Amino acid sequence: MDLTALRANFEVIRHAVGPRVRIIAMLKSNGYGLGAVCVARALEPLAPWGYGVATAEEGEELRRLAGIERPILVTGPLPAESVALAAEAGLTPAMSDPGELERWATEARRRGTPLDFHVEIDTGMGRSGFDWRDTNRWVEAVRAATGSGARLTGVFTHFQSADAVERDPTQLQWERFWDALVQLPVSRQDLLIHAANSAAALRWPEYAADAVRPGIYLYGGHPAVGLPKETLPPPAPVVALRARITLIRQVPPGSTSGYGATHVAQGWERWGTLAIGYGDGLPRCLGNVGHALVRGRRVRILGQMSMDMTVVDLTDVPEAQIGDVATLIGRDGDAEITVEEVAGQASTISYEIFTGLTARLPRVVRGEADAA
Ligand SMILES: *Cc1c(COP(=O)(O)O)cnc(C)c1O
Repeated sequence: MDLTALRANFEVIRHAVGPRVRIIAMLKSNGYGLGAVCVARALEPLAPWGYGVATAEEGEELRRLAGIERPILVTGPLPAESVALAAEAGLTPAMSDPGELERWATEARRRGTPLDFHVEIDTGMGRSGFDWRDTNRWVEAVRAATGSGARLTGVFTHFQSADAVERDPTQLQWERFWDALVQLPVSRQDLLIHAANSAAALRWPEYAADAVRPGIYLYGGHPAVGLPKETLPPPAPVVALRARITLIRQVPPGSTSGYGATHVAQGWERWGTLAIGYGDGLPRCLGNVGHALVRGRRVRILGQMSMDMTVVDLTDVPEAQIGDVATLIGRDGDAEITVEEVAGQASTISYEIFTGLTARLPRVVRGEADAA
């Protein structure tokens, strides 16, 4: 993990939206799998407005383990059993439902202190938030909650197609958002209004409002892979995934590699075993499909991957030795395997590759020094 690159990506977002727009760095799912505490500490000197997580438990951990004092927005609906934890940790939950509001206001009265919350307006994502269509059903509940201990400090929505070529779906969500927003019983100046994820923040700063919520871009994932390259600045790579060669053998024709013997050596081949497998989060479907970089050269993965080992073809890299470091994601000399390439081979997105990296992989951190 290169924290200098992480901070550079943060600055690219800040530059795109301008100095007056606040940044809520999204740290859900353990900082997209990288390690939320480490990422939060690296971003602290850049003074984001706060951080976003999906659950109260994630937020509480940031307070306790990273010592974060800035606002922490909990974007997912808050289950009843997490209300006390969220209040105790001073988190700012996003509300989606009158029952949820009522529980938050009750907790505030019980404690005798106001408790902040944001309202999410669902404008087409369809997973959380109050429905933009029937504000008359829930605006009253928001008013009741704010009158009895809870404090509405922000309103947001989430775009479902900010990575699409077409801007229309995002524009439509934006209009729905404002139609609903203006009906809330709080004046505009007292609210932090936010909508944009990484893709929207970089492509359309006009939707930035008061704050943006970037995630993937910070971590070096491209937020809109289907678009022409020049549409937005490519992120600096933050993650590299590497493993050592632990064994090298010269094998005769007919030798088979991996479960199901799906690779058969045609002639004499030189095989290298890497100390990494799908148990580390590398997708198993890279078997016979994916690549590694060894000594600056691209080599093929041979046969099905195992949980802890992956075999690569070193026939054309005769100088490779046991102990060499192979790169599964990242750069080696002039060669590069991007997370998007791996995600494409696995029919998924960079987000799932990053969050799938398992605890067994030691996180080796670069650029910590200049974080202080
Ligand atoms: C994950 C998430 C984001 C960040 O999205 P990216 O595409 O990773 O930038 C922003 N807001 C909410 C509510 C999210 O769940």
